[in-house]
Amino acid sequence: MVKMTIRNVLDRVRTKTNHLHRYRSQPVEAWSNQGYCTTCTSEVTFIAKHTWLRDHYVCSNCGSIPRERALMYVLDT
Ligand SMILES: [Zn+2]
Repeated sequence: MVKMTIRNVLDRVRTKTNHLHRYRSQPVEAWSNQGYCTTCTSEVTFIAKHTWLRDHYVCSNCGSIPRERALMYVLDT
C-alpha cells in the first residue's frame, strides 16, 4: 500500500519542477530580434540567451522581460 503524505506529494512536485527548471534554464546560443519595447518606448534589440523565453527574452535597453512589456502595453492602452 502506498501511503501518500503531503511530504510525498511535495517531493513529487519538486522533482517535476526541478526537471522543468533545468529545461527552462538551458543556455542557448544568443539570438536577437529588432522590435519596439513598450517599457522604454523605443526601438530596441531583444536578446535571448536561454530556451525559456518568458523569463529570458530581454530588452537590450531596459532589461525588461515579456511579462513586464505586456503589462506596460496594457497600462498604456
Ligand atoms: Zn526596453
